[in-house]
Amino acid sequence: MSRRKYRLRCYKTRTLKYNQINLDGLFGWFRVPAFAFANLEELETRNPKLETEYMKLTPEEIQRYSRHLTLPNVGIEGQERLKESSALLVGAGGLGAPLALYLAAAGVGRIGLVDFDTVDVSNLQRQVLYGVEDIGRPKLEAAKERLQGINPHIQIEVHEVALTSENALGIISQYDLVADGTDNFATRYLVNDACILTGRPNVYGSIFRFEGQVSVFGAPDGPCYRCIYPEPPPPGMVPSCAEGGVLGVLPGMVGTLQANEAIKLLLGIGEPLIGRLMLVDALSMKIREWKVPRDPECPVCGEHPTVKELIDYEEFCGIPKQKEEPTFSEITVQELQAKGDARPFLLDVRKPYEAEIASLGADLLIPLDELPARLDELDPYKEKELIVHCRSGGRSAQAVKMLLEAGFANPINLKGGTLAWSEEVDASVATY
Ligand SMILES: [Zn+2]
Repeated sequence: MSRRKYRLRCYKTRTLKYNQINLDGLFGWFRVPAFAFANLEELETRNPKLETEYMKLTPEEIQRYSRHLTLPNVGIEGQERLKESSALLVGAGGLGAPLALYLAAAGVGRIGLVDFDTVDVSNLQRQVLYGVEDIGRPKLEAAKERLQGINPHIQIEVHEVALTSENALGIISQYDLVADGTDNFATRYLVNDACILTGRPNVYGSIFRFEGQVSVFGAPDGPCYRCIYPEPPPPGMVPSCAEGGVLGVLPGMVGTLQANEAIKLLLGIGEPLIGRLMLVDALSMKIREWKVPRDPECPVCGEHPTVKELIDYEEFCGIPKQKEEPTFSEITVQELQAKGDARPFLLDVRKPYEAEIASLGADLLIPLDELPARLDELDPYKEKELIVHCRSGGRSAQAVKMLLEAGFANPINLKGGTLAWSEEVDASVATY
């Protein structure tokens, strides 16, 4: 008889005896739930032997997890396994919030969180870990408090740092499993490679606007993120959630799918999303699934890996180093303000709705993706100074490069965009 069956049998017979009810005939398979509600303290005093069987779960935990204990694939042994297991959540944002809430509630014994952000009012639209009273607090401080409030029987460990090539292996190797809730490509490739190098499964999730993806990478014989996406997109090609927007409920859907996969992996049950990429479209409410095999030529998880240690992921993703001088002209928000009414022509390359939220009074708005087709509108400024701005300075830098290539004499990027203007010049300009 397996250990599990033995344990379950002991559990059933003893508890039934003390309940003085034979639920066998009444409820059939529903027998186990009754045990979970038994007064275990009383049981222990009557039968000291029982204590050894519940050693890993306290009476409070038995009650708390009763709906798990009744599940055929979980039971007391599975719950003990969850208690002994650990998971690292990279990012305590939209995906990290449901992940953390459900893994904590499920009783995963040790949960690590990596994040270094503070709670902003614009987070509350989707990051359900936080409340109004948390605005301005470090996310991990608020998250730990909330999670321990849900489940005081587990440990919450906080790593208030940016995950880097220097610290990733050390942090990740402390946990059984990683759930990736990052919002940028550099960290996503870093998490992927670090998981392969440390042999940890990586429950991946990502979201954009109305669409999400979920998969499990780094499992034996399964693919990794690089098998599917060998190269990152060029920087600036894929807007961030801040720029492109995200439906608030979407990270809830994707994050709970990730939590489901994480719990299954920790329990060793079901069919995890290994070798399968799930695509969730919240608008059409269609879920599609793609088979994604491991690439034998993958530089990280392939048969002849070339990436044997962590690399510079910002460089890999084509993100220019901050110290590097840009190859085009830039102006700060203070310098622009100092020019007053004498400022040069100002072009906004955001979407029209963004200008409705926060405007710097630009002379013309041409969204970045329309710029190549509408360059003739800027002809009068081809030989003059022309300042370009967006929300944070990223898209406008792309626009400036585009204008230089098109032969414009002096396009200038506004560093930091409307965000910097709001922070350093005029707080009445909204941030979003
Ligand atoms: Zn791979």
